[in-house]
Amino acid sequence: MSPAIISSTPPLASNGKPQALKSSTKPVITSSSALPRTESTEIPAWVKPDLTRLLRVEKNPGSFASRSVSLVSLPAGSVFARITNPTPATVAYSSVQAGRDLHIELNCDLVYINHSCKPSLVFDMQRWEVRVSAERDLKEGDELTFFYPSTEWHMAQPFECLCGNKECRGRITGAKDMDKEVLGEYWLNGHVEELLEEKKAAS
Ligand SMILES: [Zn+2]
Repeated sequence: MSPAIISSTPPLASNGKPQALKSSTKPVITSSSALPRTESTEIPAWVKPDLTRLLRVEKNPGSFASRSVSLVSLPAGSVFARITNPTPATVAYSSVQAGRDLHIELNCDLVYINHSCKPSLVFDMQRWEVRVSAERDLKEGDELTFFYPSTEWHMAQPFECLCGNKECRGRITGAKDMDKEVLGEYWLNGHVEELLEEKKAAS
């Protein structure tokens, strides 16, 4: 080693700042340890990225106490989300009716969207899309809701609506039990319109 090389060595760390990095202590994430043990782990991971930008699910203790809140503002009538992963299902509290004889599970966080008698969204099961209500814009922070009788002819699990709107319809059992005039105030799926016509013809 020549003296020239030794003298060109830069002075050792000089300014007194400690080197504080401990880079080797990051926990190793494995597929099994990374997942929180909640029911949301049952949702396929590839479905979530889209929806996590659109909505936040508030899971509250007690059954049926969860709600969804919008993370985006969108104009009336625009597409909010697409239903990308439906699977045929038997009628259950979580299923959505998509045709006269077709019920599906949504298999994503859209399942946490509650009923309201003054809904912020519509579920269009023919186009497989969720749209902002045609009546008003959606604002960030609004609760996401749709009118369950717009898809459900007969609710598997009727319930007492607590939406608190002045036009609240009270007990919700499905479109088959509602007045045509009341239903006329809502956007309805084709299969519900069809079944209404049949009911009218039969009476
Ligand atoms: Zn209501």
